[in-house]
Amino acid sequence: MNNNLTPMMKQYLEMKDKHKDCLLFFRLGDFYELFFEDAEIAARELEITLTGRDGGLEERVPMCGVPYHSADSYIARLINKGYKVAICEQVEDPKQAKGIVRREVIRIITPGTIIDTTVLDEKSNNFIMALHYEDNLIGLAASDVSTGLFQVTQFKCDPHKQKLIDELARLNPAEILISESLANFIGNPHPNWFDNQGKRIVTEYHSWAFAWDFTNRTLTKHFHVNDLKSLGLDHWNSAAKAAAALLDYLLATQKNCLSHINKLELYNIDKIMYLDAITRRHLELTQNLRDGSREHTLLSVLDNTVTALGGRTLKQWIENPLLNLQEINNRLTAIEQMVFDSRWRLKIKQLLANVYDLERLAGKIVYKTVNPRDLVALGSTLKVLPEIKKLLEEKKAGQLRYIFDNLCLHESIAALIEAAIMPEPPISSKDGNIIKPGFNAELDKLRTAATEGKTWLARLEAEEKEKTGIKSLKIGYNKVFGYYLEVTKANLHLVPSHFIRKQTLSTGERYVTERLKELEEIILGAEEQGIELEYQIFCQIRETIAQEIPQLQKTAKLLGELDALLSLAVAAVQNNYVKPVLNLSNIIDIKKGRHPVVEKSLNGQWFIPNDTYLDNQQNRLLIITGPNMGGKSTYMRQVALIVLMAQIGSFVPAEQAEIGLVDRIFTRVGASDDLARGQSTFMVEMQEVANILHNATAKSLIIMDEIGRGTSTFDGLSIAWAVAEYLNDPQKIGAKTLFATHYHELTKLAERHPEIKNYCVAVKEEGEDIVFLRQIVPGSSDRSYGIHVAKLAGLPAETILRAKEILEQLENERKDISIRQEIPYSTPVQQLTLFNDSNPILDELLNLNLITTTPLDALNILFNLQKKA
Ligand code: ADP
Repeated sequence: MNNNLTPMMKQYLEMKDKHKDCLLFFRLGDFYELFFEDAEIAARELEITLTGRDGGLEERVPMCGVPYHSADSYIARLINKGYKVAICEQVEDPKQAKGIVRREVIRIITPGTIIDTTVLDEKSNNFIMALHYEDNLIGLAASDVSTGLFQVTQFKCDPHKQKLIDELARLNPAEILISESLANFIGNPHPNWFDNQGKRIVTEYHSWAFAWDFTNRTLTKHFHVNDLKSLGLDHWNSAAKAAAALLDYLLATQKNCLSHINKLELYNIDKIMYLDAITRRHLELTQNLRDGSREHTLLSVLDNTVTALGGRTLKQWIENPLLNLQEINNRLTAIEQMVFDSRWRLKIKQLLANVYDLERLAGKIVYKTVNPRDLVALGSTLKVLPEIKKLLEEKKAGQLRYIFDNLCLHESIAALIEAAIMPEPPISSKDGNIIKPGFNAELDKLRTAATEGKTWLARLEAEEKEKTGIKSLKIGYNKVFGYYLEVTKANLHLVPSHFIRKQTLSTGERYVTERLKELEEIILGAEEQGIELEYQIFCQIRETIAQEIPQLQKTAKLLGELDALLSLAVAAVQNNYVKPVLNLSNIIDIKKGRHPVVEKSLNGQWFIPNDTYLDNQQNRLLIITGPNMGGKSTYMRQVALIVLMAQIGSFVPAEQAEIGLVDRIFTRVGASDDLARGQSTFMVEMQEVANILHNATAKSLIIMDEIGRGTSTFDGLSIAWAVAEYLNDPQKIGAKTLFATHYHELTKLAERHPEIKNYCVAVKEEGEDIVFLRQIVPGSSDRSYGIHVAKLAGLPAETILRAKEILEQLENERKDISIRQEIPYSTPVQQLTLFNDSNPILDELLNLNLITTTPLDALNILFNLQKKA
């Protein structure tokens, strides 16, 4: 280090050296300062002025700073942009310091560990995740530090790393730590692999943190158990290592005991309905496809929660539909009882409106950032618990009974807060006015001294007025000079000799006297001591509450569940949903089903309901044809969403619904606009289809929306055909499938396979125009009405006319496939029937024995078919 550096700069550089990957916020008086490159980055990102400071070097050191009291918002902005921030505080009183003040990094804030509730979305968890790879198993640990949630799992690796991709999509972590072995498994450069619009921080974490001894020690120590078996981790090595590494990182960055992380929750991804990332996206469960927001999503329709706890619970439920009939029915029965009791619903809703985010409160208590107003909010929450419990007692549903039985009333904390904390305290815990009179005798004494002192001051003022004859004489106070006697210019000649001049103003002079100084000492001393004492009492109360964090977390969980159930009940009533019947049959029978989101966004238009019947015998695969804009996608998604809602335990938008549980739902939409991802759209589409063919079972529900669209007509048709057969074949998959296609030829499948049925969207022709009836009816439609749709979309009349001409010509020359030579314009439409019944290509295709065809053969065959086309 350069010897010319000032001692402070030396101290700064030592700190910075230990926190190279962070922006170091270095506390200097009332500011946090940043230096060198950190200053340049912060000045640019926060749009604040870059200045310089003499640091003992030839050139001035670049510097910028933010005021200490408003630092939170600046930090939040940097975190949002993906930076880590290390907070370096003065850890001794500057007045007592010998030489330079001691400083330490007291906390490192990162995107995955931010707990500032003004920044976090209250209805979502903010996850940080650690991943490890060992023995072909991926270990995953995820935590939300703001609430104390800590979940762990492990699963077998599949060749496409699909499960890992899907878990990343489900939890959507803000930050990820990976072990070296996981980095090797994924291959470099891994950050791209994890990319979430470049927002995620991915760090390769020390390999010692994933070592076995370390794992054992870290986990048993933190969770206060003797061995990993007690945590259920004895056969979960990979998961345990990820958990230990994550915990180590959290302890190292938060520099806090993290006592609110007191439960390690193991979960098994096979126990919940496994939805892959693409299905989640397409079904728009919690984020819409357009801008990723919540608008027009299933969550937006179902979310009537009144608490943050309920908001997060409901989101988790939607993201994790259940596979267990009993658990689903438990929720359904509870919702049913709520649906039929509007008075009860209203009362509970009003009570829940007082419930504060207890989970994040637990985080704040552990981090000691809780403020007096948080405690008042906790108090109001606890106050409503007895009434909530009383209402719960009225209901017999098992799930509500469970909440009733387990809901703790936290009476002693409630009483403590009620007795101790003022009803409207300030936000700061250090400025007094927090503790109620009568709670602490010592504090009451100090307060009396301070107030009595003020009466003495008034008396002194009156006395001095009388003695000096200065009528306008008054006693005032400011922070710098303390109490003073102020005399206006006109009266200066009356000032007696025992007045000591303190300050000159344009309008007069300020003085003190010996007596005034005495009184000041008593008043300020009492006030200062009082404030200090109030802070101490506040901290004691905080510590008392800290003892009860695990119980408070349990209460939070129960209230979150209650709110989520209520939210589903309110959605059911508002939107006229019915209770589905769930069973283990293979039947999906929906009468007058509706799309929960589309029906709400039709702007006054009527949503046309449709029936659905699927089973694993005569109605296994439905081929759905019809014009674009006819309502095919809406219909298919509606079926998927109704099944999903039923397995969340929600009522569903239908007149009646019987749902045989499905193990997974898959949806695929033909490639169209995934170009942004930089991959060939068709390649992506095929990868997605491959994933379904590898993973679907006879218990799955599959939605295929115009697959094959991304390639030439013959390729597309051949693939769609082969895929439909494969999905339908019980020897291969035999899954219930809705298959929308514009390849009319696929309707022929129904002739060969009794399990395949044809449906189409009904259209009424009115002269030149068509009217979409939005009704799904048995049969097939052999017209695509593409030109009608083009007309509706506003294509110029001339183009429409020309298209009709071409279409007519094409239809007349149907047998002639070499249309491109015949029509002078390039082929205008893909949605045309280019096969006739005795097409040699189709024949060849149909004669193929797919069971004995290897993938390589298939490619060669496709290649030859394409040449023939
Ligand atoms: P397709 O997949 O056949 O091209 P969509 O499913 O995208 O058609 O439907 C097109 C539009 O029609 C939707 O955006 C929606 O506004 C409307 N729509 C679809 N189904 C219905 C319905 N059952 N009732 C009323 N409007 C519907």
